[in-house]
Amino acid sequence: MAVSGAALFRDKAKLSFDYVPDRLLHRDRQIHRLQSLFRPLLDAGSPSTAFLHGSVGTGKTHVARRFAAEFGKAAAEAGKAVESAVVNCRQRMGDDAILLAILRKFDERFPDRGFSIPEKLATLRGQLERRRAHLLLVLDEIDALLKKSGPQLVYTFTRWAEEGGRSTVSLVLISSKADALEKLDPASRSTFRRGNAIEFPKYGRAELLDIARFRADLAFHPGTVPEEVLDLIADLAEEEGDARPVIELLLYAGLQAEDEGARELTPEHVRIGRGEVRGTDAAERIRGLDLTRKLVLLAIARKARKQLSVTTGEAENAYAVVCEEFGEKKRGHTQFWKYVRELDALGLIDAKLSGEGLVGKTTIISVTEIPAKALVTQIEGSLRSRAAPTK
Ligand code: ADP
Ligand code: MG
Repeated sequence: MAVSGAALFRDKAKLSFDYVPDRLLHRDRQIHRLQSLFRPLLDAGSPSTAFLHGSVGTGKTHVARRFAAEFGKAAAEAGKAVESAVVNCRQRMGDDAILLAILRKFDERFPDRGFSIPEKLATLRGQLERRRAHLLLVLDEIDALLKKSGPQLVYTFTRWAEEGGRSTVSLVLISSKADALEKLDPASRSTFRRGNAIEFPKYGRAELLDIARFRADLAFHPGTVPEEVLDLIADLAEEEGDARPVIELLLYAGLQAEDEGARELTPEHVRIGRGEVRGTDAAERIRGLDLTRKLVLLAIARKARKQLSVTTGEAENAYAVVCEEFGEKKRGHTQFWKYVRELDALGLIDAKLSGEGLVGKTTIISVTEIPAKALVTQIEGSLRSRAAPTK
């Protein structure tokens, strides 16, 4: 554990999944749609509904949580009492557990046993009427509830006002599946008209880069997360198009850098962090390579430990050095190229054309899948365990 060097982290908790940032980048459209869907509630007190859908890590939960909190404040300013409850249906399985979570909002000590579902519903009605409050209920991961308990609870909430009394309920349902509401009964489904659905598309690379920068600024001291690190993180997260790997990679890379007593994060910290995030099957894949391919990969990995990406020329030079070191005959340029493309196809390296070379196009090779440090260690280990190299 290094103790020297300036601290990297300003606040690690800002990289926790539970932290709700006060701003969500690139989600203005979704937030505005929610605001306009719920405008009638502010103006006339009429309940509304919304359905948020999009794949995991696209910001649905956090948009809903922020919206619920801010809407409550806006309503208070408009002289209306709006209580909000956000319940995750996967964590609280079943109608009973969900109702209990809602009731605990109003009464922290509401007992977890001894009340039936109808009694819980009656209690909730009583709570809302006493406060003359509207309930804005967010049911996150609604598909878990529909699968386990069916549509009954959602039905009850969509018909809330018709069951008598003066309290009203608005529903925001969230799912990663666009067709989640097909499991609702027809009556409830008609409440969720198509116009109430809000899509959360995947993030593009530029958006992921903004999110990375935004979270890095919150979590780390200024000047400790260089642009190339953010770039690599955006590259790695792009395939999934989701903000969670961005946050995970920042955290793990930061922890790795901290362990090393580094003054700033490097691409290598990201790669090592990534190995920890997903666990790597590097050993398995490397074992399948023959000696020549191992040498090519080792050359690239050694270079990549020090720099974000490697040109073909640099890789070929490093390969020559490695061949010398291990007493192996160096293959020609065309052969070398073939190996690079194979390693790319195996997902061990990433080779792509860049338009920026001195002599027109050049190929840029990077190691994204497995930390370069882990690759070097693995390959050197596997080469040493064969017949001792002539050195
Ligand atoms: P979902 O519910 O769609 O799976 P979340 O709302 O839980 O996604 O977001 C996953 C993580 O990514 C959270 O830590 C969240 O704060 C962060 N995040 C998602 N979108 C953004 C964004 N646009 N700006 C900043 N952070 C984001
Ligand atoms: Mg979520």
